[in-house]
Amino acid sequence: MNIETQREVVLASSNAGKLREFSAILQAAGVRMVAQSELGVPEAEEPHLTFVENALAKARHASMHTGRPALADDSGLCVPALGGAPGVYSARYASMGGGEKSDLANNMRLVSHLQRVKDRRAFYVAVLVYMEGPEDPCPLVAEGRWQGEIVMTPRGENGFGYDPHFWLPEHNCTVAELDPAEKNRSSHRARALARLLEQLRDVGAGA
Ligand code: IMP
Repeated sequence: MNIETQREVVLASSNAGKLREFSAILQAAGVRMVAQSELGVPEAEEPHLTFVENALAKARHASMHTGRPALADDSGLCVPALGGAPGVYSARYASMGGGEKSDLANNMRLVSHLQRVKDRRAFYVAVLVYMEGPEDPCPLVAEGRWQGEIVMTPRGENGFGYDPHFWLPEHNCTVAELDPAEKNRSSHRARALARLLEQLRDVGAGA
């Protein structure tokens, strides 16, 4: 893809890992990602009860500040037996109960809530939103899910967040024990990105 024919899209996140991951995949659709921090966009609020609403708010915020098309994602862990928790509060699950904001504290809270729960099935979810401008009435929305179950004893060193407790029956290991390249291929984010790529191609928003 020639650089002149690429479309520049603001990524509504300052996470360097996400920028790399999204850039690598969306390049195929003629999209060049720029981090919102490079354009002086402040972090958006995430006040909503659903992933899709938070992703919409973040994309709109980035697009409004820059006047450019924007891509946002929102993701987390959901345990149906806990009413979907930690859900949109995944990053700050422990701090909501008065604990510190760390992966370890979040995992300890999750395990303590599952102590007497038999059904420990869970899924990671990622929602991506792409909009042409802040008033785009038809943003593209793509969701990806990754099914597993929560194990009470952490295993593995890779990944982040809830990965040491997220068991993948088909791989017989936790996500933290999985090869990172395999995680990048099969994760909730990879699935959502593949769907978004298809939609971008369908509407011709890429090249
Ligand atoms: P964010 O959408 O990147 O802000 O992620 C929200 C939170 O969801 C993270 O802080 C993690 O707690 C959790 N999360 C999202 N994706 C993953 C993952 O791939 N592994 C582990 N935890 C995740």
